[in-house]
Amino acid sequence: MEAVRATAEGAIAIKAKEVKAFGTEAAAAALQQLNIKRRNLTSHDVEIEILFCGVCHSDLHTARNEWHNTIYPCVPGHEIVGRIVSVGDHVKKFKPGDHAAVGCMVDSCRQCDYCKEGLEQYCEVGNIGTYNSPDIHLGTQTYGGYSESIVVDEAFVLRVPENLDLAATAPLLCAGITTFSPLKHWNVGPGKKVGIVGIGGLGHMGVKLAKAMGAEVIVFTTSTSKVEDAKRLGADDVILSKDDEQMSRYAGKLHFVLDAVSAQHDINAYLNLLRVDGSLALVGAPEHPLPVAAFSLIPYRRSFAGSMIGGIAETQEMLDFCGKHNIVSDIEMINIQQINEAYDRLLKGDVKYRFVIDMASLKNQ
Ligand code: NAP
Ligand code: ZN
Ligand code: ZN
Repeated sequence: MEAVRATAEGAIAIKAKEVKAFGTEAAAAALQQLNIKRRNLTSHDVEIEILFCGVCHSDLHTARNEWHNTIYPCVPGHEIVGRIVSVGDHVKKFKPGDHAAVGCMVDSCRQCDYCKEGLEQYCEVGNIGTYNSPDIHLGTQTYGGYSESIVVDEAFVLRVPENLDLAATAPLLCAGITTFSPLKHWNVGPGKKVGIVGIGGLGHMGVKLAKAMGAEVIVFTTSTSKVEDAKRLGADDVILSKDDEQMSRYAGKLHFVLDAVSAQHDINAYLNLLRVDGSLALVGAPEHPLPVAAFSLIPYRRSFAGSMIGGIAETQEMLDFCGKHNIVSDIEMINIQQINEAYDRLLKGDVKYRFVIDMASLKNQ
């Protein structure tokens, strides 16, 4: 099959094949089966049969156009683990049969200062997201991991540590790196008191990673059902954030707070937990702005920051760290046909702690 891409030089025919995927045609529509194209391999590409794909809250925000930038049809999924099926002529890192993983990016300009520093996520030209970005090869948008297979340049493909369970590794590709990167950047480690807010896919990885880095970890949750469980994940203490008395115990006490909440919430309540010179990094991306009071920041010279996923080398470093410390995600496996129900449950915070799709369910559909 040939797809046609329009360029300044004229139309270029790109060989591509059709594969099954699950996606949506509109913000209010349910996800359903549809067909998408995957390009034939260029010399640096690998083709990956997708075995497992994690379900990130960003998939839901995007499918429902909550960030107002979705291009339809939209095929979400950026926590991809699979098996290499074929490789281009110049591929060095992988051979057919190897396990491999793809996270939130499939390319970037590779030339700007940030790309050269391994900060591809902040590429000056804009990174190419695994879904909902321009596909420079096919002229469409990129399509994510809720699909049978994906073709990616090997430079953006990660190696999976052999000792880790494959399905439970998938969420590391977004939830893992999005928490690992800021924890490292803000020097979380022994002697540091760290708060993790919102114990969903990202938050529960944040707890495991911060603990493995040697910090004292305090969990802040709205869910009574997660209080005991958070200790099993590694938390030293757990605070029910609706309880003002419990919250006041940590006022001015924390060196760093990682906020992974997906919906509207009072950010000032968490800024007030920081010590002098403490920082709060927001990774959760609610649809609407979060008001910040001047006097949540001024009195203790506090910083309010954000952080986006992580670079490719850093993602490999995170996977290797997880391999060394035997860290994976706590998952609930679903079939692709359950994805709409899973989104509804995600909205209620009803998952411990990441849905992962067994992609064999799409193949057999
Ligand atoms: P998730 O699994 O749905 O977890 C979100 C958690 O936030 C819930 O489990 C819940 O934790 C808490 N929460 C939800 N609604 C709340 C509300 N109304 N008030 C207070 N707390 C609430 O989502 P996720 O996949 O971890 O993603 C979290 C956010 O990070 C999403 O907005 C996602 O788009 C964003 N994200 C950002 C990046 C980045 O690069 N910055 C990367 C990936 C994802 P408790 O039950 O413990 O309260
Ligand atoms: Zn994600
Ligand atoms: Zn760049």
